[in-house]
Amino acid sequence: MKAFYAEEQKRHDPKAFLSSGTAQPNPEKPERVERLLAGALSAGFTIERPRNHGLGPVSAVHTPEYLDFLEHIYTRWQRIDGASAEVIPNIHPIARNGSYPASAVGQAGYHMADTACPISGETWQSALWSAWSAVGAAEAVISGAPAAYALCRPPGHHAFADVAGGFCFINNSAVAAQVLRRTASRVAILDVDLHHGNGTQGIFYARPDVLTVSLHADPVRFYPFFWGHADERGEGPGLGYNFNLPLPRKSADAAFLEALAVAFQRIRAFSPDALVVALGLDAFEGDPFGGLSVTTPGFSRIGEAIAKLGLPTVIVQEGGYLCDELSDNLTAFLTGFGGKAR
Ligand SMILES: [Zn+2]
Repeated sequence: MKAFYAEEQKRHDPKAFLSSGTAQPNPEKPERVERLLAGALSAGFTIERPRNHGLGPVSAVHTPEYLDFLEHIYTRWQRIDGASAEVIPNIHPIARNGSYPASAVGQAGYHMADTACPISGETWQSALWSAWSAVGAAEAVISGAPAAYALCRPPGHHAFADVAGGFCFINNSAVAAQVLRRTASRVAILDVDLHHGNGTQGIFYARPDVLTVSLHADPVRFYPFFWGHADERGEGPGLGYNFNLPLPRKSADAAFLEALAVAFQRIRAFSPDALVVALGLDAFEGDPFGGLSVTTPGFSRIGEAIAKLGLPTVIVQEGGYLCDELSDNLTAFLTGFGGKAR
């Protein structure tokens, strides 16, 4: 089975990160790539470089003003006297019903949800190639592959149509789903990352053609706080096409697999033609975020259970941070899913 990845994705190297008001090293490190590549290779995958897909597939889920911001904000920021080395917002609109700001500082606050997604001179290209890896995997599946893995880094599921957040800039899972829609009339996205896929939910919230399902640590006391609750079900024509399954902190394999079975009922009822798995590995018991307690064999069982849906599947990498087992957890998931068999 094929995995997609481009070297440019490694260049983004965020430094800043504020956690509970304390400056910490940013956990979304380039080294994650080495671990994930090793994990995919161990599962028998071959690594392929995606081609340059242009802005088309990205602009299908993001606004033009946001993409223009991502591409140019670093250069504009550097013209400010005394500006920091990375773009980090210091003011946000309390509601997004005011005017679109003209200044770099105003736009940073408008388009960035938090301080976890600093933008450097490398960010735009890394995020773009990350999205193109998702496009490559989706096109492989459209061409008949039963499944493909996109080693997306930076990750994407916290990025809304016009807002970056939580290490994410371009929503790779949403890009993959939208590419699959070229041939699939209905696409389901199953997000198993530790954190709620708020950006993905936001992008498809009013659409009945893409079902968004997310299992995650209960946001009542966990990022992203404002989204991911069970009563968020979609709106307008999309009402009923968003399904959140918040889990109590430290839930382990049994509770996760039980929630997964509930997610499958909703997905089967939707009867999709294709599936995107937003694969975060940070639900792991040893992940630095420590929100859930899924084990390495647990990831294998999760992969196995998802494969039983029998759908053409694009697996898109989301979170999962540096710990000794990061490679093994990816191998476990991909092997469980059927990496060696295919
Ligand atoms: Zn996460």
